[in-house]
Amino acid sequence: MIIALDGPAASGKGTLARRLAAKYRLPHLDTGLLYRATAHALLEAGDRLEDEARAVAAARGLGLTDFDEGKLRGRVMGEAASVVAAIPAVRAALLDAQRSFASRPGGAVLDGRDIGTVICPKADVKIFVVASSETRANRRALELAGQGEKVDYAAVLEDIKTRDTRDSSRSAAPLLKAVDAVSLDTTALDVEGAFAAAVAIVESRRAI
Ligand code: C5P
Repeated sequence: MIIALDGPAASGKGTLARRLAAKYRLPHLDTGLLYRATAHALLEAGDRLEDEARAVAAARGLGLTDFDEGKLRGRVMGEAASVVAAIPAVRAALLDAQRSFASRPGGAVLDGRDIGTVICPKADVKIFVVASSETRANRRALELAGQGEKVDYAAVLEDIKTRDTRDSSRSAAPLLKAVDAVSLDTTALDVEGAFAAAVAIVESRRAI
């Protein structure tokens, strides 16, 4: 079974993907880490995020397991990831690795922006996770504070809105609900409530 979760930043899709992977004993790939790691490699090398050739080389050089999440999860890297993610050649360089992860025997859970639309258009279950931008900014601010970052709520909200606009308006694989995806709005749900709703969606699709 392939489960595809897409949605904007801090919608809750990452937590849901991890929980669903554990419940159904499937491997999980957080595809945002691929774009974050590509951006990180460029910044470390002193290259510009818009340098297509360098960005493609960085994307091709990534392994799927060697992420230093401590360095990748912060605010700056989320923003930088969304800049490199808008380069079509970078997306193309990361396509095969994501598809081969998804085609593991038994299936997989992947979360990102284009899983249901581009990476796994035939996924068994597609969930499009949304939440209001204020709720997402609150969650992200709490998460960043937990990681020891100094947090300015207004700046986090601004980042989220900028990233939403860039991710939704780019020409290459924009953030879009697949026609056969089920929407899950987590604005008024806690983690347990969102997880229960996601499991109900998986079970209803499995029953078809
Ligand atoms: O999900 P996360 O916040 O880690 O993603 C960081 C950025 O990577 C997103 O804002 C988006 O621009 C990009 N991304 C993408 N496609 C994916 C996953 C992430 O374009 N499948």
